[in-house]
Amino acid sequence: MRNISVLGSTGSIGTQTLEVIRQNPDDFKAVTLTCGSNIDLLYEQILEFKPLAVSVNDEKKALELKDRLKNTADIKTEVLSGEQGVIDCATIPEADTVLGAIVGVAGLKPTYEAILKGKDIALANKETLVAGGDIIMPLVKKMGVELLPVDSEHCAIWQCLWGEKKENLDRILITASGGPFRGYSRDQLKDVTCENALNHPTWKMGGKITIDSSTMMNKGLEVIEASHLFGVEVDRVDVVVHPQSVIHSMIRLRDGSVLAQMGKPSMILPIMVALYFPDRGPRLLEEFDPFDPKCCNLTFEKCDTSVFGLLDLAYEAGRIKGFMPCVLNAANEAAVGAFLNGKIGFLDIEDTVRKVYEEFLPRNRSDNDLDDILGISREAFVRAGELIGK
Ligand code: NDP
Repeated sequence: MRNISVLGSTGSIGTQTLEVIRQNPDDFKAVTLTCGSNIDLLYEQILEFKPLAVSVNDEKKALELKDRLKNTADIKTEVLSGEQGVIDCATIPEADTVLGAIVGVAGLKPTYEAILKGKDIALANKETLVAGGDIIMPLVKKMGVELLPVDSEHCAIWQCLWGEKKENLDRILITASGGPFRGYSRDQLKDVTCENALNHPTWKMGGKITIDSSTMMNKGLEVIEASHLFGVEVDRVDVVVHPQSVIHSMIRLRDGSVLAQMGKPSMILPIMVALYFPDRGPRLLEEFDPFDPKCCNLTFEKCDTSVFGLLDLAYEAGRIKGFMPCVLNAANEAAVGAFLNGKIGFLDIEDTVRKVYEEFLPRNRSDNDLDDILGISREAFVRAGELIGK
């Protein structure tokens, strides 16, 4: 039995993690759950999973939840709130593994604190590694914990690497569906709406990552994430647009062998691979059918970065390092939030991120600690907000 702290339990990854736990009650128990503000769903999750503690980021909502739970005598769940509440949930002594599924850099500090307490981390929250990979990776090593990739591409790469010597890895080929605007010209992107951008062709995900997929920033973040997880420079990671999303990523080895991990587009499997590691769990998904028409015609293309410029900018940030990946991520979080709220147009996302990136570039420095990274992240987020407000 493994005890799991599910950070971001009300989101897309969080609810799918609880589905894995629900289906495998002899193997896993959810000991803590956290959310931003969705206390309606969290309440239901508390009744079902009876965790030791939960945390709600929004303090007022946490009080509301406490009130609601007064009438449920058999529930002993402690209700915490704010950033410290998430950290307390992530570091609770009873947890073995922390499943990081908070969206954005808000997941960085709880992940850091959980590693310090010796927890294994199953990580979906890619922004944590993009912003803080230079801090997280050495800490993982120092504390001797497992960092288990949940992002489907990284889970695929990781599985391909099982049993391989690190020095035999030549290149990583990270696949991308291409998002809803694959094949669009820059001109066509001018008029796309939030509704268009949220209509992802192959994956059902939370709002922020779905928008990131439509701008190709998601792939840029994943390239940086892969460079941290697998210890390679970003220029050894190629992006391969593969619209069918059947191959979840590939690696090329020194002798030219290419290994791929395949399956239906579903996050259930990567979550299970991470939670059951180093073992394998039972099959929860429909069997993979190579004769399914969707699997028979697998195609590969290059991403047109003259249209989706954020991908190139992410490569640049990954090369320059220091705090620039953190700045890129924070500006993107602000811009995507503004796009989701109808404040800016689709192409303004790239514009805003680029402007903030260029402003911060002359100040870039390495050897940042956690407070430096969180500080610069806040600053870049605020600056993006100012530019958007203008
Ligand atoms: P969702 O938006 O669906 O869920 C995000 C979760 O984080 C929710 O539980 C939300 O609570 C909580 N949350 C939001 N803001 C805060 C905050 N400031 N403090 C604490 N909790 C907060 O996102 P996804 O599940 O789609 O994605 C989660 C992470 O996993 C992202 O980093 C994403 O890039 C990554 N990922 C997601 C994939 C997917 O298929 N969805 C695939 C691969 C990676 P509330 O519901 O109350 O708002």
